[in-house]
Amino acid sequence: MPKKLIERLRSFLPGNAKKKPVPFTRQVIPRDQHTVSRSNISEPGKKVLNRLNNAGFEAYLVGGGVRDILLGGRPKDFDIATDATPEQVHELFRNSRLIGRRFRIVHVLFGREVIEVTTFRGSAGNSDDEEEDDRKTSEHGLLLRDNVYGNMAEDALRRDFTVNALYYCIRDFSVIDFAGGIEDLHNRQLRLIGDPETRYREDPVRMLRAVRFAAKLDFEIEPATEAPIPELAPLLTHIPPARLFEEVLKLFSAGYGEASFELLTRYGLLESLFPETARALAAGEPDTLIRQALRNTDSRIRQGKSVTPYFLYAAMLWPALQLEWRTRQDEGEPIQPALHQAIAMVIGRQVQATAIPKRFSGPMKEIWEMQMRLPRRHGKRALVTLEHPRFRAAYDFLLVRESAGEIEPGLGQWWTDFQATDDNGREKMLSQVESAGPKKRRKRRKPANKT
Ligand code: ATP
Ligand code: MG
Repeated sequence: MPKKLIERLRSFLPGNAKKKPVPFTRQVIPRDQHTVSRSNISEPGKKVLNRLNNAGFEAYLVGGGVRDILLGGRPKDFDIATDATPEQVHELFRNSRLIGRRFRIVHVLFGREVIEVTTFRGSAGNSDDEEEDDRKTSEHGLLLRDNVYGNMAEDALRRDFTVNALYYCIRDFSVIDFAGGIEDLHNRQLRLIGDPETRYREDPVRMLRAVRFAAKLDFEIEPATEAPIPELAPLLTHIPPARLFEEVLKLFSAGYGEASFELLTRYGLLESLFPETARALAAGEPDTLIRQALRNTDSRIRQGKSVTPYFLYAAMLWPALQLEWRTRQDEGEPIQPALHQAIAMVIGRQVQATAIPKRFSGPMKEIWEMQMRLPRRHGKRALVTLEHPRFRAAYDFLLVRESAGEIEPGLGQWWTDFQATDDNGREKMLSQVESAGPKKRRKRRKPANKT
């Protein structure tokens, strides 16, 4: 018997026996007993389903598309599962491309909308020597590749959570449930399909997905699914930093960032995603700025405004930067070089956990550096600062620092007024700064000279 099959069978044996077995029943919910209707599906989504069906293939809407409609929400995107191979799908749609190696899938492109089409994954039991190359696990149980194809029932059990394994059939309008997803949906529970530890070892990102869906859907993570997370959280360090960067963005830019942060902290996942931040918080740095920034971000997203990854990262790493910067100053480094060194250090360490593409790390540095420039408004400085391409983001960051109580209120309002007023108004404001400024400076310098 192949080794992997034995391992798979072992996961169902004693030791794991106390865990609730997966219900392997096929439950069909007819149209009049659920809320998914064709009108909830985008035109491109319907087009792909119909064309696959008309070509003689099975095709179902699956994942977040079905889940979110059943919950009364609007899906972010539409995923489709089919028995057609990726090549067959690609042949049917000229506007498609084959992507991925770990999981070979097809993207069908309709303007800005992308429909993701995956071929039914098979169960491990199908894996014979011939297919050895199509499914590959590392010594840690990490699933490196999963391109063994199977039928819909097998596909359902390879998905992550029961509520993500519901299929909508556009031919008879039924919803099909293999894993007890409907019941969990009603009870607002996230439950991993199969043995949670095995499933997290196969793909540790599922721990982040648990947190993301719990935050977004306001679901509980059921006890057996929740239990292994703190212990297995360090497995995330085996995941390529670029994939983790993408996951971080999904966690923090979907409108539920603060709730996600809360859960990441609770389950010890923050250490793997933002090790320096976790260390700074453990050392007593406050997390108020992070929370304030995420709260603002969440409300921006709800208002349909955009958020930028560099702003999020600037906030997420701020406590780490503060700690590093202060430590360096305490050791005698002057304020400015200490800041530059601290920035380099914090970014250098962070990119080992989650990547930060250069196009984001540059602006993030500027936001940080400008926090030192914003208080300095003498002469032409304020006008130069106002013209800086990163002024707006740096100003927003300043406002977050103020509302987090990190700095005295006042400066943010000054910049708000300075932007709003005309040239005359600006001149007046600057002359007030001039007359107020030098006095303050002398005051600050005196005690320093004495010691
Ligand atoms: P949303 O698109 O709203 O973030 P989703 O559930 O659709 O949520 P996707 O990342 O689009 O999530 O994935 C689509 C489906 O593919 C999921 O619902 C799940 O069934 C399956 N899936 C995705 N990632 C994994 C994974 N790491 N392990 C197992 N199944 C997965
Ligand atoms: Mg989706």
